[in-house]
Amino acid sequence: QPTKRDFEIELRAQHSDGNYLWILDKGAVVARAADGTPLRVSGTHLDITARKEAAEKMHRLAFYDVLTGLPNRFLLLDRLSEAVIDAGHASKIGALLFIDLDNFKQVNDARGHLVGDILLQHVAQRLATAMAPRHTVARLGGDEFVVLANPTSDDLDTGRLAAQQMAEQMQEALRAPFSVDGVMYHIGGSIGVTLFPKLGDTLDNLIREADTAMYWSKAKGRHGNIAFYETAMQVEAERKLSMEHDLQKAVAAQGFDLYIESKVDRHEQEIGGELLLRWTHPVHGAIGPTQFIPVAEACGQIIPLGNWVIEQACQALVQLQAVGCERTLSVNVSPRQLLQEGFVSQVRDTLGRTGALASQLIFEVTEGLFIENWEVTVPSMTELVAMGIRFSIDDFGTGYSSLAYLQRLPIHEIKIDRSFLKNIPGDAGNQAIVQAILAVARHLQLHVVAEGVETRTQLDFLVSSECACMQGYLFGGATPLSAWLSSIERVQQAHASRKRH
Ligand code: C2E
Ligand code: CA
Ligand code: CA
Repeated sequence: QPTKRDFEIELRAQHSDGNYLWILDKGAVVARAADGTPLRVSGTHLDITARKEAAEKMHRLAFYDVLTGLPNRFLLLDRLSEAVIDAGHASKIGALLFIDLDNFKQVNDARGHLVGDILLQHVAQRLATAMAPRHTVARLGGDEFVVLANPTSDDLDTGRLAAQQMAEQMQEALRAPFSVDGVMYHIGGSIGVTLFPKLGDTLDNLIREADTAMYWSKAKGRHGNIAFYETAMQVEAERKLSMEHDLQKAVAAQGFDLYIESKVDRHEQEIGGELLLRWTHPVHGAIGPTQFIPVAEACGQIIPLGNWVIEQACQALVQLQAVGCERTLSVNVSPRQLLQEGFVSQVRDTLGRTGALASQLIFEVTEGLFIENWEVTVPSMTELVAMGIRFSIDDFGTGYSSLAYLQRLPIHEIKIDRSFLKNIPGDAGNQAIVQAILAVARHLQLHVVAEGVETRTQLDFLVSSECACMQGYLFGGATPLSAWLSSIERVQQAHASRKRH
């Protein structure tokens, strides 16, 4: 558009080589007719492509995540502030969905950051394509993504429903495994949701609420949960945080105790024991492992803590060996440990340093370990088995209950979960399950332990069903490891002196 005044315009032109150039045209009217009509214009054409690209790059760096190309925290906050204002004006409800990937940290630790980065790019792409373009899918950093659902719902109930559906859509998008270098990874997501607008809520608060709800969804146990923010969660979140802090201190100070629960054969003869952690909190007193193990897993402290348990188990085995006692010791090993890079060599070192026999050590793992990230865990497991360590599947029957994988794994033993012993004998269903597990195990030549035996009738039923090994309160419950070791030493020494005389 020719102008009657001085002008300055930016144009995009296509070069004959096909590339686009940005040009800044500046012109000044240098001569006019008496009525003001411009007669002559003088000016410049400036190629500003480089400057334009640099500015665009700056903009991208400031508002988008470099790895995935998704909006970053800044842009998210920007859009969130608009959305909150819109929601207020239009009386509509929007949602903020915080997703944290399940298993990502383990894969990243075990397989390296290169694989981790590619996975994050794949995840970003899937999430972005699964969401309608009016919503914002952002990456906050690490394996944390946030979706901002623009306010369109008329009331809280429909807002909740819409957010729930969106969360499910996100999980659906992640359901199929991700392939990196021909290896398949199962990466699900736990999601926390908060709705807005809320009275007096700041933008940071909204993000924190969604984050808190996400933690809550993770704490529900198995992966892939969705939780909505509630005020009570904040209190709980603070409790968790302080527990993490206290755990860290306790791990550093080795402030834990080990107990042992006997494993007996059908004649009630002790053949070994399972080590169980105990924690006495300086203020809150005894805290059970069902409470602190998940926290230790979430904050990574399970790695040093788990190493400490294995170290203690090896030292105990050496003490047993010294008095000529043959008992196996079972140690609970968290998936996080097995997925940790260097776990196998750490165990090898501990065995070598202490002189404990690997053949006396049993690692108890849960079924979930094999379903997720099979490719990472099975090779580590195979190496440990080659060293002589045996594997046991804990809480068998409560997880994915797929017997099919058993024969493909280097498994020595399964432990029938104690829930199946409830009301036995009497409960026909449980009775049938226990007998079915025993039959399959016999067929696959697997050792079986029944956990949680509390009554003599349970024991009788198990013995008559040809279960070879049992554990539970009936056989004395857990005792401090040190006391257990000294009593064995006393018995062995008495035995030896009787032989001498
Ligand atoms: P788990 O491996 O299934 O351990 C058995 C749990 O059942 C123990 O609880 C034990 O005290 C309890 N128990 C034993 N006999 C009976 C019985 O007859 N009846 C009933 N009702 N319960 C019985 P605990 O010590 O509270 O441990 C809970 C869980 O914490 C363990 O479950 C295990 O998953 C975890 N855990 C304990 N120590 C460690 C550890 O060193 N490392 C890891 N990763 N996890 C551990
Ligand atoms: Ca166990
Ligand atoms: Ca168990």
